[in-house]
Amino acid sequence: MEMRFSFIKCRIFFPLAGLFLIFSGCATVPYTGRSQLSLVEDSEVLQMSVASYREVLSQSEVIRNTDDAAILNRVGRRIAAAAEEFMRDEGMGEVTNDFNWEFNLINDDEVINAWCMPGGKIAFYTGILPYCEDESGVAVVMGHEVAHALARHGAERLSQNLLIQLGSTALSLSLEEEPEMTQSLAYIAFGLGSQIGFILPYSRTHEYEADQIGLILTARAGYDPRNAIEFWERMKAQGDNSELEFLSTHPVAEDRIKEIKEMMPEALKYYNKYNQAHP
Ligand SMILES: [Zn+2]
Repeated sequence: MEMRFSFIKCRIFFPLAGLFLIFSGCATVPYTGRSQLSLVEDSEVLQMSVASYREVLSQSEVIRNTDDAAILNRVGRRIAAAAEEFMRDEGMGEVTNDFNWEFNLINDDEVINAWCMPGGKIAFYTGILPYCEDESGVAVVMGHEVAHALARHGAERLSQNLLIQLGSTALSLSLEEEPEMTQSLAYIAFGLGSQIGFILPYSRTHEYEADQIGLILTARAGYDPRNAIEFWERMKAQGDNSELEFLSTHPVAEDRIKEIKEMMPEALKYYNKYNQAHP
């Protein structure tokens, strides 16, 4: 029922936004099967993502050759492999085929944040590492962030924002004609809006999906998904700390930890399977 309802919700945008939408319009979230608004071609999203990623890295100090950088890389490779396997199992392997994974640690203790942009472009700031505590905590955060990318949440947010900003004008044209606005929208949509001073929290639907898929990725990569409960409890204990950028884009709603606990038996099946295969 849920799927059917979202499909109808998605379809009502067709008459609103004109010709362009007839050719694209909807995509499907892996695992949950939810139908989502998608007004931008994947190739365009990837292009914007790569450009934004390059820009952020060029303005940052990237750390290499430290223990923390090595941990981030190791977790990254394992989560990426788990993500590709997961998408193949979901019959959506073509999505990650176009990913070009990168994992970069940015030296900034003031920024408590981590994100994964479309195409597998991942950044962790040193400020979030104490909240991760150890390698499995990094895996929890990365699993969650990669899940946002697999579920194309950035593209969905971009589509929703484009619809609000541009209404029914030809969207494909506007992307080329208004590069600055498009770039700003991409920053907001991909979760790094604070770079331009505008943070847009992920919706509860997106957070729920990223928790579900993220726990499975963490487990499939061989990290104990139960660490997620502790991580989110640490986040929740921060209350309304506005310094905590990660908390601004990922609000810990009242029921979140309870929901994560409910997802745990499913995630643990994958963790046990991993442990059996890697005794
Ligand atoms: Zn999230």
